[in-house]
Amino acid sequence: MAKEFSIPTYWKVPYQEEMTGKIRKIREREFQFSQKFFYPGGGGQLSDRGTIVYADKEFPIINVYKDEEGIWHEIKSKGNIEFEEGKEVLLKLDWKRRYSFMKAHSSQHLISHILEKIYQCRTLKANFEEGKVDIETSMKLSLEQVLKALEQANDIINSGTIIKSIVVDQEEYKKKFKQRTRGKTSDEKTVRLIQLGEDDGFDLVCCGGIHVKNLSEVKGIVLENLKGYTLKLLVDQYGLTFANQQRKMMIVLEELTQKKDEKLVEMIQNKLNSFDVLQSGNVKLLKMIFSNLQHWKITINGLSCVFFELLEIDRQAIQSAAKEMIEGFLVVIIGKNEILYILSSDESIPANEVSKKLLEITKNKGGGNKAFAQISIQKVENPLKLVKDVIKNF
Ligand SMILES: [Zn+2]
Repeated sequence: MAKEFSIPTYWKVPYQEEMTGKIRKIREREFQFSQKFFYPGGGGQLSDRGTIVYADKEFPIINVYKDEEGIWHEIKSKGNIEFEEGKEVLLKLDWKRRYSFMKAHSSQHLISHILEKIYQCRTLKANFEEGKVDIETSMKLSLEQVLKALEQANDIINSGTIIKSIVVDQEEYKKKFKQRTRGKTSDEKTVRLIQLGEDDGFDLVCCGGIHVKNLSEVKGIVLENLKGYTLKLLVDQYGLTFANQQRKMMIVLEELTQKKDEKLVEMIQNKLNSFDVLQSGNVKLLKMIFSNLQHWKITINGLSCVFFELLEIDRQAIQSAAKEMIEGFLVVIIGKNEILYILSSDESIPANEVSKKLLEITKNKGGGNKAFAQISIQKVENPLKLVKDVIKNF
């Protein structure tokens, strides 16, 4: 006989941060509890994390997943504690993570609804991380289309739209809901539906994930990136922080691009050094620079070159940002610890050929490939002048 369906606790009380339960089964470092309190993942939403408290000790949960036997919770180590089936445990959620997923997931319902409504664009896949929503769409959307959809979404978020969870059997589902379900329909005996809006709502999908009670909790959605069929969004304070960072960079870039004198390099250096931001901030700024190289272009020997002295920037930041570099340029950066980085997106001047010539002169250490090379510039008096001379004679 098929197992009776019981509504999981995480659907019933999604806002509860802790709960007592009993150990039902033990398998190595994995447990089943009497309460389905931790979400096992699914539908793009990652599984919950948290701890269990047993014998006055806390055990972090490193994985939660579901198999045919039920929901398993894996802990890192049992230590020297003897766990017993039937004993009581306290289950504690990593609430910050869970709540963030609830908000991200709920935002995705709304965005997918709007994209379908105004562009007949379906959501093929969605993934969530803390504050992040990635959506794979059925058609390529333009930036304008996405911004229009986001504007509508943020209006709905601001108006305080409720989200309802409805659990019905297959018969009732067919009768009342199937017709107006967006996306995949369900053949399950018990169907869980998520509705946006009062009464019959304006959007209905079959979904087993966890959502907020009211869309106003999301606060807002901001576009992080749009590439091909992938839409990357940030929600809640993650979106706001990102929007401010981006604006700050744009203001700096606007200031810089209005000036055309040779002090530019020095100014960029000062601006970057004055940014008391994490390396990730540096990567973002570098990406912006790499995708706008024409603003700092100097032509030497017919080649488009850009020179920077960015003493706070290291190899990792440069390499992660280099993916955004536009075609046909040679970029030379003096970075952290007296290292000179050479990046080339111009086939006629490979980075390693430039570094080879520099090494012959400086006798320092270095190397690289066609796209990226680095050399030490210790004891080199005017490294930028030296590189310029090498390029002149290339
Ligand atoms: Zn959902």
